[in-house]
Amino acid sequence: LDVVRGVEPRIADAIGAEIEDQRASLKLIASENYASPAVLLAMGNWFSDKYAEGTIGRRFYAGCRNVDTVEAIAAEHARELFGAQHAYVQPHSGIDANLVAFWAVLAQRVELPALEQAGVRQVNDLGEEDWERLRKALGDQRMLGMSLDAGGHLTHGFRPNISGKMFHQRSYGTDPETGLLDYDAVRAAAREFRPLILIAGYSAYPRRVNFRIMREIADEVGATLMVDMAHFAGLVAGKVLTGDFDPVPHAQIVTTTTHKSLRGPRGGMVLCDDSLADQVDRGCPMVLGGPLPHVMAAKAVALAEARQPAFQDYAQRVVDNARALADGLTRRGARLVTGGTDNHLALLDVSGYGLTGRQAEGALLDAGIVTNRNAIPRDPNGAWYTSGIRLGTPALTTRGLTADGFDEVAELIDSVLRRTTPGTAKSGKPSKATYVLGEGVAKEVAGRAADL
Ligand code: PLP
Repeated sequence: LDVVRGVEPRIADAIGAEIEDQRASLKLIASENYASPAVLLAMGNWFSDKYAEGTIGRRFYAGCRNVDTVEAIAAEHARELFGAQHAYVQPHSGIDANLVAFWAVLAQRVELPALEQAGVRQVNDLGEEDWERLRKALGDQRMLGMSLDAGGHLTHGFRPNISGKMFHQRSYGTDPETGLLDYDAVRAAAREFRPLILIAGYSAYPRRVNFRIMREIADEVGATLMVDMAHFAGLVAGKVLTGDFDPVPHAQIVTTTTHKSLRGPRGGMVLCDDSLADQVDRGCPMVLGGPLPHVMAAKAVALAEARQPAFQDYAQRVVDNARALADGLTRRGARLVTGGTDNHLALLDVSGYGLTGRQAEGALLDAGIVTNRNAIPRDPNGAWYTSGIRLGTPALTTRGLTADGFDEVAELIDSVLRRTTPGTAKSGKPSKATYVLGEGVAKEVAGRAADL
């Protein structure tokens, strides 16, 4: 830090403060983790300076032999770890990985047939009329994904996101009674809508998804099954999600982030079968610029870590701990969406405490418990204030917290929320944002949290 301090002391201070914050608080954000020192060090080096557009052995820049080595090792680890035919490790983030996947499927299913029909090899060789027809066809495709309030992600066709502008989108939700995915409803929606891409995967669904059934549905309607496993990649890598719940054998294309339950550097990745490999490898320059070789180096290290037996033990503990947290909350009278969890996250409905998600998030933060508010299915408070809090176990499991510790975390969460009341807005009306935390609660809970 002293080297940074010599140039911009405020940044050195901010880095130091962030380390302190992450040490002192209970990090329950389901999409966060703690990467190992090996991962962090592999990322902070001179690879950062290198340009390497293209793919392994086919670069648009000279002097890429070491980047080729790094990218090949990362891809090899990814293929071996997940049992995938092909891996593309360049995407800079989960959103980028999804964009690469969308365009790969569009190229395979729309562009290549159009080129064949026109008797040419590349879009550049198309005549004006054929090019116009292709552009229209590319912009006229459909995607079916999980709705945001059921736990889907912005990139699964939500309108403010580019995916919702690229595709005509329809979404499937969850059963209003149970909160669980209703495969018959997904099938009915797919039959009616006939999407090009059926997308499965989530950011806030606390259960496993049966990808064998999703593939059956996709095949029935001629869709490509794409799974975004950004959240649960660590559970797949750690062999907790296997068989029907492992997306890799079932989906034609799988995307992920590398920094959530997988515990790597911030970044994304695409896995696919051989039929899509050429299209996926065109991610750069299709939607990506030069790759981040330093991050690919860190991905390789994280993937190597995830291939160790210790990672399987970690993944199992993540799930056991989520169950302990969910059980602890339920026992204390809280309501969880779907009644519990069988992955790494739980979704707590805080309306029973008389609070919005925004109020609960703020009160918990004051007490040193870092969570994020999240909409629950058919949320009366919308996506901004919400009625839910999403709780995840990957980060604290990395720090060694056990099931007993998570039961104590449930006690702390319940204790904070019980002693929080909604505040009043300046107008005198009830507020959805402000709250009043009982006297001394923040200090008491933060002290107990620090002992965990
Ligand atoms: N896909 C899913 C399911 C996610 O939960 C997220 C992140 O929240 C992303 C994609 C996007 O990842 P990133 O923030 O790296 O772009």
